[in-house]
Amino acid sequence: MITGKTKTVGILGWPVGHSLSPFMHNAAFAALELDYTYVPLPVEPDHLGEAVAGLKAMGFVGANVTIPHKVTIMPYLDEIDPSAQLTGAVNTIVIRNGRCIGYNTDAQGFIQSLTAKNITLKGKTVVIMGAGGAARAVVSGLIQHGIDKIIIGTRNAVKAQEFVTLFPAGTNLQGCDWHDELFADAIAQCDILINCTPIGMSSSQQIELPINWQNVKTTAVVCDLIYNPPLTPFLAHAQSRGHIVINGAGMLVEQGALAFELWTGEVAPRSIMLDKLIKFI
Ligand code: NAP
Repeated sequence: MITGKTKTVGILGWPVGHSLSPFMHNAAFAALELDYTYVPLPVEPDHLGEAVAGLKAMGFVGANVTIPHKVTIMPYLDEIDPSAQLTGAVNTIVIRNGRCIGYNTDAQGFIQSLTAKNITLKGKTVVIMGAGGAARAVVSGLIQHGIDKIIIGTRNAVKAQEFVTLFPAGTNLQGCDWHDELFADAIAQCDILINCTPIGMSSSQQIELPINWQNVKTTAVVCDLIYNPPLTPFLAHAQSRGHIVINGAGMLVEQGALAFELWTGEVAPRSIMLDKLIKFI
């Protein structure tokens, strides 16, 4: 029951009607009998500053931040945690003593979705397709966990090169067009292959990712950040060839669980959050 004492968190985005986070977090609060509620907060880009001030004014304890506000919200916050500095984006806000602190739980959420499946990272070679916000979070997480080498392939080599410059010099990170030979060679060497593009989402066109499956090591772990559908054509193909496959549901739950822990100080009930999520996919 919501009372005058209930603590409020929400999700800032535009639009947010599609977000599964309210179901996932409200189920987690209920499971632990915490007096919190989580609400969708549709905010147009032009009103983002007012919305952040409003969260403080209305005594919110925090919020999640989603598209298109993850980067543009940063100047409105009082402090940026190192997790958000490295990824260049904020997906979680904690409001403490009237100050808004921006965090990013996507990078660690992705890593935990792998370690939960006993995938080790140290010394591995990773190939990533896509160079957007999600790829940046994934690379940030990987370079903090001892990955040996990362190759970014995109449909646009210039964007791949620009992406590489976002990370500290000395990081073993290369960008290329995914039709180049460098990409084909990388595919043949990689231990972990990750789709960070929207190709394969239910609503997207039927485009295929540029993988020559004959060349992929059978031991390679194949990941897709997409969680709807749970088995994209890319993952289905990998699974049919015997690869371990991991979809984006684990990352979504883990990033949410880490945000939940920042707001409440309690260990998040991950299995309940995943069950709730699966019901809506
Ligand atoms: P984004 O910032 O828009 O980046 C998308 C990337 O994919 C860009 O490199 C883009 O290339 C490329 N791309 C898009 N459409 C393409 C196409 N038709 N052909 C080739 N390349 C294409 O998006 P994002 O935030 O990184 O999200 C990427 C995916 O990850 C989405 O499906 C999203 O739902 C998913 N995601 C999942 C989680 C999770 O918790 N599981 C979290 C975040 C994101 P251009 O620059 O050339 O357009």
